[in-house]
Amino acid sequence: MSPDVRALPEPYRRFHDEAAGFLPPGAVIADPVRTLAYGADASFYRLVPRLVIRIETEEQVRRLLGAAGRLGVPVTFRAAGTSLSGQAVTDSVLLALAPGAWRRALVHEQGGAITLGPGIIGAEANALLAAHGRKIGPDPASINACMIGGIVANNASGMCCGTAQNTYRTLERMRLVLADGTVLDSGDPASRHAFAGSHAATLEELSSIRREILADPALSARIRDKYRIKNTTGYGLNSFLDHVDPVDILVHLLVGSEGTLGFVSEVTLRTVEDQAHRASALVLFPDVVQAARATQALQGGLVSAAELMDRASLRAVEAKPGMPASLRGLPDRACALLVEVRAADPGALSAAMARAAERIAGIPTLAQVAFTAIRAEAEALWDVRRGLFPAVGAARRVGTTVVIEDVAFPMVHLAEAVAALQELLAAHGYAEGILFGHALDGNLHFVFTQGFDDPAEVERYRRFMDAVCDMVVRRFDGSLKGEHGTGRNMAPYVQLEWGARAHGIMRRVKELLDPGGILNPGVLLNPDPRAHVKALKPLPATDPLVDRCTECGFCEPRCPSRALTLTPRQRIVVRREMARLAAAPDGSGRRARFQEAWRYLGDETCATDGLCATACPVGIDTGKLVKALRAAARSPAARRTASALADHYGGAVGSLRVALGAAAAARAVLGERGLSGLSRGLRAASGRRLPLWNAALPRPAPRHDFRTVPGRGGPAMVYLPSCVVRAMGPARGDPDARAEFEAMLSILDKAGCEVRFPRDLSSLCCGLTFESKGFPELAARKAAELESALLEASQGGRLPVLCETSPCTQQMRLRLDPRLRTYEPAELIHDLLRERLRFERRAGTVAIHVTCSSIKMGVGERLRALAQACAERVVQPTSGCCGFAGDRGFSHPELNASALHDLRAGLPPGCEAGYSNSRTCQIGLSVHAGIPYQSIVHLVDRCTTRVD
Ligand SMILES: Cc1cc2nc3c(=O)[nH]c(=O)nc-3n(C[C@H](O)[C@H](O)[C@H](O)COP(=O)(O)OP(=O)(O)OC[C@H]3O[C@@H](n4cnc5c(N)ncnc54)[C@H](O)[C@@H]3O)c2cc1C
Ligand code: SF4
Ligand code: SF4
Repeated sequence: MSPDVRALPEPYRRFHDEAAGFLPPGAVIADPVRTLAYGADASFYRLVPRLVIRIETEEQVRRLLGAAGRLGVPVTFRAAGTSLSGQAVTDSVLLALAPGAWRRALVHEQGGAITLGPGIIGAEANALLAAHGRKIGPDPASINACMIGGIVANNASGMCCGTAQNTYRTLERMRLVLADGTVLDSGDPASRHAFAGSHAATLEELSSIRREILADPALSARIRDKYRIKNTTGYGLNSFLDHVDPVDILVHLLVGSEGTLGFVSEVTLRTVEDQAHRASALVLFPDVVQAARATQALQGGLVSAAELMDRASLRAVEAKPGMPASLRGLPDRACALLVEVRAADPGALSAAMARAAERIAGIPTLAQVAFTAIRAEAEALWDVRRGLFPAVGAARRVGTTVVIEDVAFPMVHLAEAVAALQELLAAHGYAEGILFGHALDGNLHFVFTQGFDDPAEVERYRRFMDAVCDMVVRRFDGSLKGEHGTGRNMAPYVQLEWGARAHGIMRRVKELLDPGGILNPGVLLNPDPRAHVKALKPLPATDPLVDRCTECGFCEPRCPSRALTLTPRQRIVVRREMARLAAAPDGSGRRARFQEAWRYLGDETCATDGLCATACPVGIDTGKLVKALRAAARSPAARRTASALADHYGGAVGSLRVALGAAAAARAVLGERGLSGLSRGLRAASGRRLPLWNAALPRPAPRHDFRTVPGRGGPAMVYLPSCVVRAMGPARGDPDARAEFEAMLSILDKAGCEVRFPRDLSSLCCGLTFESKGFPELAARKAAELESALLEASQGGRLPVLCETSPCTQQMRLRLDPRLRTYEPAELIHDLLRERLRFERRAGTVAIHVTCSSIKMGVGERLRALAQACAERVVQPTSGCCGFAGDRGFSHPELNASALHDLRAGLPPGCEAGYSNSRTCQIGLSVHAGIPYQSIVHLVDRCTTRVD
């Protein structure tokens, strides 16, 4: 038994032992580093679970709930952890959906409905439905990260969904596990029948509550009234009015119950139309009263969204690059509505735009109303709205958190409510507070920054929240939570909003379905009037590279180490704790533990690909932090060795070729199994310092004398074969037995290009390897050498520069003189050579992989277009970082294996080859796909001939 488990209080130790007895190894986590990291969510509450358990099956949930009930150990379910109100954190046991599990997804009725496991990300469900012109109804702004489990359990909604298309309204069927371990499937008559037998008393109590509500006209009317606008405060009492059968009441109560009534293991949702044609207008009004009048005029399904932004919101973004000029110099009381109309075809869209403009024609505006259907222009308008939260997040003082509140008002009060909220923000000293929201639903978010490290600040926040709640409820009879869920944040105010009678019914529901109080206690209902100001999250400064992190979790789905060790958010959480411990008088023991764990969890398994930055609202690249920490940790001896390598780079590339030759020879003698076994043994004996051999390891590339190739009418260019491609040839079994540069040169020859090579080619390197290993000064040196050679060869940037390896091309684009026009191969062939090549579809089904650098350079579509010109069918089972990360796939093969764990399953039958644009990534892809992956240039060369 580990010391961490021994240190647990008695019921937790027993819970641990029982769980570990039937769960797979590694599923029960008790160490202080990962429990802290995995326990964090997007809210401003911090509770550290004693145990985190990765759950994979309904049977496991049943058994765990059984143990929880017997031992009196509370459990909290966790999907993506993007919740804002504290409903996904616990200091007890966190039951987290295991990465890669709960991912059943089945489209029915030509897209009319979809069955989803709780581990499917909302955007993934929509991607499956896109081909049918449909989408799921719930549309939270977090849809690219949050999962169905959380969407259902929070009854999440967003800009367009209103009250008509949320989970509650679109739920067709639910499969769930109750606190007592019973599984109920509302879509299965046999399950319903069995449940009616086993839980007759439960169903009777639900029916009885329904009868009581119906017998009380005032209460019935109040419930109906409260759901005319968005409301996620407390349990969904409308279930009792909208449904007669107690099983239907039960499953609808589960929606929005925030994991306090049961576990949702599958849902079937009816889908909604996703109209393809859209137009947007940013309408500027002199004040909020006029904006509210316009909102009322636009109601009734005419427009799909109307996002209100107050003057403070517009001021927060007006100076950012790309913002419309019309935002600058607006009067102090100005207010904007970002309006979107959607239609099935361009004609209907024009009509919708005209109707919307006509409806608000009589209302004073600061500029003429102008819709645009041009995608780039519309996106620029939506960037205003998208930039609001990040603007506050980025501008805040380090150590403070960003609070997003989420209230809703009856439409008639919208203008008054905006003014009242603005007054409250000012009165309580939140001068930087901004206010925006889904005006059509009267749903407003106000965002402000708040420090929780000082009791006086906590008290200010508490007074402010008291005032807000009082105003929302007593003055406007609004909702304290419109879409983010009650959580811990509003739990003390549920009775204020709903009144004693309705609150009493909610308590009865909880006692009925969770009599032992084991499901997420303290969330949604909480008798402690100060519950919302307890367990507040500290956000100590750790590094300026990541201090702006709001812990929203949007970066997590992009990270290749998410299932293996830590996500970007979790890395930042750990670093923050290390910073906190460094300042704590008694923190040294725990800090040493964190430091030790960081080496593998945080550092060694970060691919430093920076993909996290592409999803981060405040642009944080956690890979940069990891690289900076690596650099700070390098010893003088390591620097000297790396410097010698940089000085003799040509020799190092030559040595790699020799090593690859030796490995190929050893394979010939020992066979694949023999060499694999030997490699594993040597790696174990070296303490994992020696790299692991794998079957896709390339043979050495043939020696080649790179000399200028004269052109035949095609474009002239400079070609920089990367060091990896100069050293690594094809692997055994690859469809094309030539080295990548040979295939590239063959294409350039067919296109009649003049090809030049930079001087001293053998010693050139873009510096990426040095940078990612923590030697930024050597990276800069190699980049400077390369820049000089390329400027010379390209005549000061006149000629385009080709490098066939996408990470190197991206590095060059970031680090070298912008006069150099760099191309990776898909870009070059697509943009410059396409007309000079005749394409013929000679391949059947092929897979493509869009690397992280390709995503960042925006070349994925061109890679796909080329593949489609060459093959009958193109599939893309993966994209993003494969985790190979240069040579990390040899030193930490488990990172690559984890990132690509579902690649093989995603390949359709008959898919015999894959294509990408990074030689090292192709090694890992080949190993985990079970089919060879080569460069896209091999496919293009095979499927093209000269035009003349
Ligand atoms: C920047 C930002 C913007 C946001 N915008 C919106 C928005 O526009 N609209 C909106 O509604 N929300 C929004 N949210 C809040 C949040 O992202 C959503 O509510 C989301 O649906 C939560 O899903 P999740 O997968 O992260 O769930 P989690 O946070 O992991 O869990 C949510 C709740 O569901 C419970 N739960 C999880 N899985 C299950 C299960 N299988 N069975 C039972 N209970 C379960 C958890 O215990 C918890 O109480 C936003 C959050 C952020 C950070
Ligand atoms: S790094 Fe960015 S995306 Fe990730 S949790 Fe922090 S703020 Fe969110
Ligand atoms: S750089 Fe890559 S591996 Fe590292 S945290 Fe970001 S996404 Fe994850």
